Amino acid sequence: MDEAVSLGVKSLWFLGAHENTLNPNYLRLLEAAEKRGLFTVTFSNGAPFGDDVIAKKIFGMSAENFTKTVASFSRSSVIIKCDSLKLETQNLLARNKNARQQIKKAIQNAKKTELWSPGINGLPRFGLNSVLTSHNYGDVANIFQFCLENKLAYFCDALLSSGAATKEENLAPISKQVKITLKKIKHVLQSFEMDLPPEMVVNFYDQKCILFDNYIFIIHDGRILPCAGFPENSSILGHVNEGLTVLWEKKSKMISTYYKHCSFIPNKCPCRAHLENHLI
Ligand code: SF4
Repeated sequence: MDEAVSLGVKSLWFLGAHENTLNPNYLRLLEAAEKRGLFTVTFSNGAPFGDDVIAKKIFGMSAENFTKTVASFSRSSVIIKCDSLKLETQNLLARNKNARQQIKKAIQNAKKTELWSPGINGLPRFGLNSVLTSHNYGDVANIFQFCLENKLAYFCDALLSSGAATKEENLAPISKQVKITLKKIKHVLQSFEMDLPPEMVVNFYDQKCILFDNYIFIIHDGRILPCAGFPENSSILGHVNEGLTVLWEKKSKMISTYYKHCSFIPNKCPCRAHLENHLI
């Protein structure tokens, strides 16, 4: 973190295929970030925020107190993965029969804390995040509406052809389902008098990515990926032991390669150009 601060890093994001909040050091990491003036954004499936058994086992406190502790770090924000408001769909997508209940409780607990208020910079400190699939295409607009009603952040991503998406058949929505989703989102936007194209609410990985130029992704074992959308097995930049300065030089080379050789690919951000065209 000290090295990151000296390089000008402003925020740490805890995200990825693993549930970072299950790490017993998680609260210590938030504390260390806070001390250094770093903002943190945690993407979570809601586990210790909404399940007393998990919070007790790892942190020795209730889920409500765990959420309060996270909220007590003024620079922390939390985004809970929520794919559907329907119990069966959510549990199926999370492959966890307790998922919907956990998410509901996590939202209730967050509501009792400062996470529910805007943060230092006026931006929301709490939000939800969905991945659009053939199972939840009818529900995404309702989650978006819930976020607008409560002034929460909302992130919705299309499926990337990596990880679980490549293993599970029929998970990707067909174009008719995407159209239905966008129509419903448009309706929500109109009801809030927001003059935005609905396509802007879903990340289709189809435009210039401002994040790609600004971060590196550290896996739990210290290996480095160019960003979260690159698969672990084929896109390692190095190891965190090399130091962030060296790693950022490597990443910078990759960024310039992308703009030199790949920006002719229409409608694909770097991770899609990598996954579908094997160009970087
Ligand atoms: S390149 Fe793709 S996966 Fe990487 S940060 Fe951008 S949108 Fe996300």
